Amino acid sequence: MEKVLIIGCKNTMDDVCIGCSRCMVGFNRREGEFEEYKDKDAELIGLLSCGGCPGAGIVTRMAQVKLWNAPMNEKPTVIHIAPCLSQHCPNKDEIIKKILAKSGIDVIEGTHPYMPADIFA
Ligand code: SF4
Repeated sequence: MEKVLIIGCKNTMDDVCIGCSRCMVGFNRREGEFEEYKDKDAELIGLLSCGGCPGAGIVTRMAQVKLWNAPMNEKPTVIHIAPCLSQHCPNKDEIIKKILAKSGIDVIEGTHPYMPADIFA
């Protein structure tokens, strides 16, 4: 059973991508980078923000996820980096480097495939 933790951009999660529903719908439908779970057991166990610019707290926040979920005996087996972070964050290289170095589990860039189309086209 894969246990998926999504990590995204705090600014976007708070104010832009309302309800983080694109990531959740993508996971539920197994679309985008979640296609690889189409024929597998997989659960979404959390949506974690970077904590705010410049994302300095990301390692601490991953440790908090571990503590917070310990009473339920849940922990992620794979992390997906949402496009709000992997495609649009000026600090993404440093943040993703820390996640790769400290998570100890697989890290995949990408979540949903529903990027907005050209607005005025
Ligand atoms: S550090 Fe990057 S991912 Fe985090 S809030 Fe700022 S812009 Fe978003």
